[in-house]
Amino acid sequence: MIVLVFILVLLTFSNVYAEKFSQPVDSIPMLQLVSLPYDYDDLQPVISERTMQLHHGKHLQGYVDRLARYIINTPYNNMPLSRIVIMSDSSVYDQEIFDNAGQVLNHNLYFLQFSPHGGGEPQGALAKAIVNRWGSFEEFKHAFTQNGSQLFGSGWVWLACDHEGRLYIVQEPNGGNPVTHGLTPLLGIDVWEHAYYLDYQNRRTDHIDAVWNIIDWPVIEARYEATGVSDNCCQTAVEKMWEE
Ligand code: MN
Repeated sequence: MIVLVFILVLLTFSNVYAEKFSQPVDSIPMLQLVSLPYDYDDLQPVISERTMQLHHGKHLQGYVDRLARYIINTPYNNMPLSRIVIMSDSSVYDQEIFDNAGQVLNHNLYFLQFSPHGGGEPQGALAKAIVNRWGSFEEFKHAFTQNGSQLFGSGWVWLACDHEGRLYIVQEPNGGNPVTHGLTPLLGIDVWEHAYYLDYQNRRTDHIDAVWNIIDWPVIEARYEATGVSDNCCQTAVEKMWEE
């Protein structure tokens, strides 16, 4: 009986935890500046207070305001944010909506994935899937950082997964998001200069190297687990290995 109660408490807690941290991106009010679970000066020295003031307070606010302006009185007005990004991506007439909706989606995911107590390595199904795909967490980090460093111009580098839980590193120019390729975004690093130039000037790679210290892995794990496919992928991969 005690064990049963314990299991129930654990299940309830883990659901609440997953809900709190996975925060399906479409459940965040898209026409408000997302509120942060930390203060602007909490991510120092990785990201300075000044960069946070500008990046969250000015740049993101700008994207939110423009999105609100562009979608009013259009069919996009009642769509979830990720749907707006997918739909406007396929329309040559809606470039401004795509750019701003993409950037709101990207930055909501971005700012909610940090913690002053972050860093370390992921655990559980995500950790397994990373090792399965890249051999080790270090190899994954290396590949991700390299993709971020080499992306030409402004854009984003993402860790994303497909409907079977397989992981991908995806480079996106400008305000792109992997949802337009049918992938679920898990972790995104902003390589626009506004994200790092005040603190690192032209040293983008140094910035990405430092960002690993503030990644809130339980958030990324919860996003992965929320897709509900994480166990299958590893199982399938292991089975395939034995078949070969
Ligand atoms: Mn940005």
